[in-house]
Amino acid sequence: MCVFLTGIILGFGLRPYKMSYREVKYFSFPGELLMRMLQMLVLPLLVSSLITGMAALDSRASGKMGVRAVVYYTTTTIIAVFIGIVMVLIIHPGRGSKDEFTKQEKIEQVSPADAFLDLIRNMFPPNLVQACTQQFKTQYGKRVVTVKVIPVLGTVNGINALGLVVFSMCFGFIIGNMKEQGQPLRDFFDCLNEAIMRLVAIIMWYAPLGIMFLIAGKIVEMDDISEMGGQLGMYTITVIIGLLIHAIIVLPSLYFLVTRKNPFVFIAGLLQALVTALGTSSSSATLPITFKCLEENNHVDKRVTRFVLPVGATINMDGTALYEALAAIFIAQVNDMDLNFGEILTISITATAASIGAAGIPQAGLVTMVIVLTSVGLPTDDITLIIAVDWFLDRLRTTTNVLGDSIGAGIVEHLSRHELCAIDAEIGNSVVEE
Ligand code: ASP
Repeated sequence: MCVFLTGIILGFGLRPYKMSYREVKYFSFPGELLMRMLQMLVLPLLVSSLITGMAALDSRASGKMGVRAVVYYTTTTIIAVFIGIVMVLIIHPGRGSKDEFTKQEKIEQVSPADAFLDLIRNMFPPNLVQACTQQFKTQYGKRVVTVKVIPVLGTVNGINALGLVVFSMCFGFIIGNMKEQGQPLRDFFDCLNEAIMRLVAIIMWYAPLGIMFLIAGKIVEMDDISEMGGQLGMYTITVIIGLLIHAIIVLPSLYFLVTRKNPFVFIAGLLQALVTALGTSSSSATLPITFKCLEENNHVDKRVTRFVLPVGATINMDGTALYEALAAIFIAQVNDMDLNFGEILTISITATAASIGAAGIPQAGLVTMVIVLTSVGLPTDDITLIIAVDWFLDRLRTTTNVLGDSIGAGIVEHLSRHELCAIDAEIGNSVVEE
C-alpha cells in the first residue's frame, strides 16, 4: 500500500513540471522493466503450473475441482454483470448531451458470431510454437487480421493463453494418468514450475520499486482530470461504485458464506498482488505474484492454485464483465437510446462472453466491448468517448479480476478439502508400503 501511495504522491508532485513524452518514458523505465519481467514469466508459469496441477490430481478430483471453479466463475461473473447494469440504470450517468464529448474515431464492427467462433478457434492452436509468439492471427468474417490490428480474443501479449490453457490441461491430465511412464515428464514440469517460482521470489524484491514508477509515470502523463466532462465523471464514479460493491461486499461475503473464515484476513494476504494489478493493469502479468501471495501468505494448497489460477487469469474477469455491461448501457444513454429488456439481456450475455474472451492485458476489455455494442446495434465508434478514463478504470477492474480469481482459489480449496485429504492419504499409504 505504501508503494501505491508513494507512487501517487510522486506522480502528482511531478505533474507541474510538464515532462515531455521522452522524459516520461525515461522516468517510467523502472516500471516498464517490472512489466517485462513479469510478462517474461507468464508463459512458462502458465504452462508448467497447469500441467503439474492437473498431473497431481486424479481424474475425479480434477473433474470435481473443475466443476466447482466453473460454477464459481459463472456465478460471480453473472453477479458482476448484474451489479454493473443496476448501477448504470440507477445512476444514469449518460444523461445530458453528446456534445460534451469531442473525440470520435472510426472503429470497425465485429460480429458477435465471428467473435464467438474466434474464441473457440483460439482454444485449439494449430501450432503450439506459434501460440507462444506474436504473429497470432484471427479471423473476422472474410478478413484475417494480426494481433497488432485487433488484439485477439483470449490472447496475452501475443501468447494465445486460452489455447495454451486448453493444451496444458489436457497434457497434464494425460501425463497424470500415465503412471510410472509419465514420471519423467511430471518431474520435469514440477522442477520447471519450482524454478519459475524461485524467479518470481527474486522479482518480488524488485516489484515495489517497479510498481511505484508504473503508477507515478501514469499519473505524470495522464490528461488533465479537471477537464473531464460531467457525463464522463459520473460514468467513472458509477464504474468505481459498481467495482467496489463487487470487490468489497459480494466477493468477501461469498468467501465467508462458503468457508466461514474472515475474508478480510484472506484479502490482506493478497495485498501485494492487488497492488501489482493496480500498477500493471494486467491480470496475466500479476499472475506470478498472485501465486506467491496465495501459496505463501494464505497457504492455499498448491494443487489448487496451479489448477485454478491460470484458468481464472485467462477466463474469469468479473471486473471486466461489470464494466463492459455498464459501459455499453452508458453509451446507449449518451445516444438517448432506450434499451428494452431483451437488449439488456443481450448486453449481459455478450458482456459475459466478452469478459471470457478478453486477454489479461491492459485495456483488453475496451477492445472486446466492440462485440457487446455490435450485439445491440450501438455505435462502436462511441468506444472512443470513454477512452480518456479507461486507463484508470482498467486498473480498478484488473484488481477486481485478480481478487475474483484469488477468492475463487480459496473457495475451491475449501470445497475440495476432502478430495485433497484423500489424495494425501493415498500418497501416505503408498510411501508407507514402499
Ligand atoms: N486489464 C484487464 C486484465 O488484465 C482486462 C481488461 O481490460 O478488462 O484483467
